[in-house]
Amino acid sequence: MVLLSGPNMGGNEWKYVKDCLDTGWVSSVGAYVDQFEKMTATFAGTRFAVATSSGTTALHIALILAGVQTNDLVITQNITFVATLNSIRYTGANPVLIDTETAGWQMDLDLLEKFLQQETEIKNNTCYHKATGKRIPVIMPVHVLGNITDMDRLLQLAHQFHLTVIEDSTEALGSYYKGKHAGSMGLMGTFSYNGNKIITTGGGGMIVTDDEALAKKAKHLTTQAKSDPFEYMHDEVGYNYRLVNVAAAMGVAQMEQLPGFLEKKKHIIQFYTSALQGVGDITFQEVLPTVQPNWWMPTIRTQKQRAVLDVLNKDQLQSRPFWVPMNRLPMFKENLYYHEGDRSGELYSECLSIPCSTNITDADLERVANKIKSVF
Ligand SMILES: *Cc1c(COP(=O)(O)O)cnc(C)c1O
Repeated sequence: MVLLSGPNMGGNEWKYVKDCLDTGWVSSVGAYVDQFEKMTATFAGTRFAVATSSGTTALHIALILAGVQTNDLVITQNITFVATLNSIRYTGANPVLIDTETAGWQMDLDLLEKFLQQETEIKNNTCYHKATGKRIPVIMPVHVLGNITDMDRLLQLAHQFHLTVIEDSTEALGSYYKGKHAGSMGLMGTFSYNGNKIITTGGGGMIVTDDEALAKKAKHLTTQAKSDPFEYMHDEVGYNYRLVNVAAAMGVAQMEQLPGFLEKKKHIIQFYTSALQGVGDITFQEVLPTVQPNWWMPTIRTQKQRAVLDVLNKDQLQSRPFWVPMNRLPMFKENLYYHEGDRSGELYSECLSIPCSTNITDADLERVANKIKSVF
């Protein structure tokens, strides 16, 4: 089986994990957690990084720290992985789903601007949804597949409408906009180390920020809000959202290899682009000249999506359709979906992700490309 996007444990993972086991530092404190956080902050160009148990819990904590409360609305997009919306619901808030543009498959900023201008009003430096009177404190753009939208425009709109920006940059480790790393442009950003992401710790996540008070608060909330080093004194309802040292040990080893993984992802997308150029109606995700994506997960678009998925998966070349749009999931059906036409629906029925693990061989890339060509 050629995996869609599997782990690549080719570095010091074994050595560092063994070190945890040998010394007994396996649990929620340890030198690897600190080191992993430092390496991530340095790589992302932020002052601070706080490790969490997953990307989802990183998003949850970031939303709490941005002041999101029950009955608020949080603006995000209709094409994303479900965790984005789940984290919003955990706070008691509800998502506003903005539809996607069809070139780069990111949040449609024309639609966003229209929504903000027509459907919201500002009172006391706070954005409110006119129809429901609900507060909109936060916008959470998702860097879909490691690509990035026109962030200058998004940040400008956010500023104009008094929205705090939290980047769901969980797919975008190694992606840049005008030289700035994904996650470093909003008040907070997040990463995920789930098994299919560009680096993995089995499961894990990270919050990055330049704000020292927020970083301290994030550490506090993710570690049961313990306020005394000796006594079991806790000063608010906290969470057990820590990353364990064994996982962080893997994370350190993975970070050492990240530059190589990014090179390999670039090779993979270049291979597929040249092999599939002009084949049938196949197109790829478009990228702005200001963006350098991490090419986390090469995804093609074609009306023959189902036929291509069939031949690839039958041949053990693991491939997957795009996410079901959030407005079609039963628990989010009632949420506000702002759109013109149904572009997320079109992308869902035409896009598919193809094998792209960082240890895939050229021979397997060739097999995938040839299988796809055979459909046309
Ligand atoms: C992977 C992912 C998450 C969640 O990360 P986990 O570590 O799996 O909890 C959130 N949002 C998006 C867009 C993702 O792709």
